[in-house]
Amino acid sequence: MTLQKQRVLGVPVDVHDCYGDWLTERLLQGVGTQVVTLNTEMVMQARSNPDLARVIEAAELAVPDGAGVVLYLRSLNLAIERCPGIELAETLVRAVGIHHKTLYLIGGAPGILELVVETWQKTMPQFDRSCLVGMHHGYFDALEEAKILQSLADQQPHLILVGLGVPRQELWIEQHRHLCANSIWIGVGGSFDVWSGVKQRAPKLMQNWNLEWLYRLYLEPWRWRRMLSIPQFAWCALQQRLGWKG
Ligand code: UDP
Repeated sequence: MTLQKQRVLGVPVDVHDCYGDWLTERLLQGVGTQVVTLNTEMVMQARSNPDLARVIEAAELAVPDGAGVVLYLRSLNLAIERCPGIELAETLVRAVGIHHKTLYLIGGAPGILELVVETWQKTMPQFDRSCLVGMHHGYFDALEEAKILQSLADQQPHLILVGLGVPRQELWIEQHRHLCANSIWIGVGGSFDVWSGVKQRAPKLMQNWNLEWLYRLYLEPWRWRRMLSIPQFAWCALQQRLGWKG
């Protein structure tokens, strides 16, 4: 299946029945790709941040990560399933191990990535430590950043996971992806915190009921201001459906 481009409040999202297969193919063929994992918060940010909007527009793949994005697309009668970015990234990490490709990790607080590697070694039989050609935490200064960029250019890893938070990671990838033009670059947000065990994903039932955001609010109540984007998104979507706005 080829990607089918749709729009959620003007922001592009790609519809496909197996994002993992589509990306693995590109990983194996060395087709440079930026992956954006779209949720309602990001849609609302993109509507007021032209730089983020431009990056999402240019990304080769934007997957429907958030429940709101999926519900919006279903309201257009599209049969679509959620594609959580964390699960898509795991699929790719497995593919790297299976096909003897290479991996680079950037992001998270100091010490987190070491825990991520430990977790993967214990829980992911396909993960191969020797595939990991570099990693760096996400709190780097200009000097460290220059070293990371040089290391990326030298290593040319096939898969690069960047967890610096939205929108910084999307802009950072877009700025530097030319250094590894044949790589798959994915912005993974707080996924390193989850893989490390420092944070938990919502229970399966809440995920199934599209309530992952509520669990996140319960764990991190200080995110309430950012999460106002959810009702704002719902309001904009309703206005659009009622024909009040384009
Ligand atoms: N982070 C980082 N460097 C920074 C700021 C944040 O590496 O300068 C990391 C932070 O440690 C966390 C992730 O970026 O692992 C952001 O997580 P969050 O859950 O806020 O992601 P988002 O909701 O933005 O996708």
